[in-house]
Amino acid sequence: MAKRIWLDGKLVDSQLASVNVFDHGVLYGDGVFEGLRQYAGRVFKLEEHLRRLFDSAKSIRLPIPYTRGELAHAIQQTTDANNLTDSYIRLIITRGVGALGISPLNCAKPTVVIIADLIKMYSEETYRTGMAIITASTIRTSPAALSPKIKSLNYLNNIMAKWEAIDAGVSEAVMLNQLGYVCECTADNIFIVRDGVLFTPPEESGILLGITRGTVIELGSKNDIQVRQVNLTRHDLYTADECFLTGTGAEIVPVTSIDRRAIGNGYVGPVTQSLTEAFHQEVRSASVSPLPAAV
Ligand code: PMP
Repeated sequence: MAKRIWLDGKLVDSQLASVNVFDHGVLYGDGVFEGLRQYAGRVFKLEEHLRRLFDSAKSIRLPIPYTRGELAHAIQQTTDANNLTDSYIRLIITRGVGALGISPLNCAKPTVVIIADLIKMYSEETYRTGMAIITASTIRTSPAALSPKIKSLNYLNNIMAKWEAIDAGVSEAVMLNQLGYVCECTADNIFIVRDGVLFTPPEESGILLGITRGTVIELGSKNDIQVRQVNLTRHDLYTADECFLTGTGAEIVPVTSIDRRAIGNGYVGPVTQSLTEAFHQEVRSASVSPLPAAV
């Protein structure tokens, strides 16, 4: 477990790092967060993660009390304090401590937490042989209600779908949108391969724009794999040759069965394998662009 947590500007012993029960992050899930990964001592796509964090915060009118450069420095301090070079980093910004009642005006200043720790989302075997998933009946929050582009502390929509996966004895569930098109899984984006072409639901389907999703799209193009961001139905999933999920925590995890239909021949396919290899190379070789402290 992480030894030191970054909490409002200070590194605190993890046993003592606590959030006030009147924090609106606790009372109402009012806040935003990011999940990042550090490979070989460098945070992968740090700028993209900070950009999404600041966009999420702006959308919910949450002023982040640090610059991007200061947060980048704080992340570094946290991984250093825990002697980590390969870790998962959770950066959380809540509305802060306030009175009961949902008004954000009750809260004096946002609470900022950074946790760096080791993470293992799935077993080696799952990465080697793939996993089974189902389609959930819980649909993804409509962008008309709350944009799924906001990485907010409200994950109940996804958690309800996760319950369906648990009840079905599988690890993940595909969530559809209000029109019945495929969106994403409960904490990962989804891709399929058909006849050598890579398909993934488009931005407008109502997804979180995953940073791993973006990386895979780039890698596909670089490796001469045609990539199409189009609406997909469950039929498209069932009849795909290959399927995989992407996320910062999960990285690229193969899916070999959906709603009890074997995907392709039921084994992890060649496009998934080559993209996974390319991804592992990319995360270790990606060049770092230092953030100016004043950004
Ligand atoms: N969709 C949802 C709902 C998520 O929570 C996440 C992050 N775990 C993703 C997709 C993947 O995004 P990223 O690749 O940026 O981690």
